[in-house]
Amino acid sequence: MDHFLYRNGILHAEDVPLPQIAAEVGTPFYVYSCATLTRHYRLFEEALAGMEHLVCFAMKSNSNQAVIAHLAGLGAGMDVVSGGEYLRAKAAGVPGERIVFSGVGKTKDEMRMALKGGIRQFNVESEPELIALSEVATSLGVTAPITVRVNPDVDAKTHEKIATGKSENKFGIPIAKAPAVYAMAAKLPGIEVIGIDVHIGSQLTELEPFRLAYEKVRELTLRLRADGHDIRRLDLGGGLGIPYERSNTAPPLPTEYGALIREVFHDLDVEIEIEPGRLISGNAGILVASVIYVKEGEGRDFLILDAAMNDLVRPAMYGAWHDIIPVVEPAPGLDQRPYDIVGPVCESGDTFAKQRQMPAIGPGELVAFRSAGAYGAVMSSEYNTRPLIPEVLVKDDHMAVIRARPTFDEIINRDTIPSWV
Ligand SMILES: *Cc1c(COP(=O)(O)O)cnc(C)c1O
Repeated sequence: MDHFLYRNGILHAEDVPLPQIAAEVGTPFYVYSCATLTRHYRLFEEALAGMEHLVCFAMKSNSNQAVIAHLAGLGAGMDVVSGGEYLRAKAAGVPGERIVFSGVGKTKDEMRMALKGGIRQFNVESEPELIALSEVATSLGVTAPITVRVNPDVDAKTHEKIATGKSENKFGIPIAKAPAVYAMAAKLPGIEVIGIDVHIGSQLTELEPFRLAYEKVRELTLRLRADGHDIRRLDLGGGLGIPYERSNTAPPLPTEYGALIREVFHDLDVEIEIEPGRLISGNAGILVASVIYVKEGEGRDFLILDAAMNDLVRPAMYGAWHDIIPVVEPAPGLDQRPYDIVGPVCESGDTFAKQRQMPAIGPGELVAFRSAGAYGAVMSSEYNTRPLIPEVLVKDDHMAVIRARPTFDEIINRDTIPSWV
């Protein structure tokens, strides 16, 4: 469910008509809905009600500070995966005690930054990282609260590039090795073991992989407690998928996911932490683009947009599907025709959709990519010297540009030509 609906034949973001935003900021642009962000955050809150918990938004899915500030205002914590994300969260007003630091390659500088600025916990992914963190914490005279991310060797049944819970993936330590690693952690100075972390992948469309992983975490909790560790917090990761294709069967709901968590962990007297990204931000954003040309090809027509793979890389990178709809509502029963929908970048990979059925559309008209709020703007680049596109936030009838389009001067002046060239 989202707040991008047709009204009087025009697609709106909440109460703001998209052509109005296009007129103000130009296309292409991203627009996010506060109401959808709120709704999805609250679904998780409600799903975990009655258990001690914190919902930490995975900032890597959408790290605009206005989005972060909005979610933090609702009570969300943040899951960060770099020093940059940590600083962004702080700049958006998130207190250190609500920031969790994940990621497989945290540097000592990043650890120092978080220990000085305040951190809820580090999710440690390897023994060398544990030793580095112990060194940094002792040098600062502080203690670092940690969980160890375990790799449960579970098939998340998602795209291979976003599966993280199989033994061949780079993430976490093998769960069988966990007792030894926890024993080592307990002896290290500057380290306080507080829990266990697991995250098996992204865009999961079934609950079964979560169940398999969580049952292993449950067993490990009992085992580590028997070994004398005070396991009091379980970080269960993110990964719940969203329905990118409206016509497909929908992934499980946050309520069903919450019920599973309750079922597996209710009697353990632990605090639950989850790190959803996509399910909170995905459907809360769309990408709006203009048609530049309609080109008749050999046996197919190309819809050439002013948005490209550098603005939204998911189709090129993961073969991902996004629903693409006209901003002016097509009359019911209008004939559909197949289009290859592409961007202007000089790569054949710059294709958003092949043979996509759409009502006839012409140059200058606007289209919207649905479900583009997660892993959209954050993964964009300036490939082909295409400026990063603006991000707009809408709440009721308010709209604000929350990241402006850079000028060409700003982009070009970033380079320096040395005198010896
Ligand atoms: C990417 C990631 C998430 C969020 O995944 P979603 O599929 O967006 O919910 C959570 N935790 C970690 C450690 C991640 O790497």
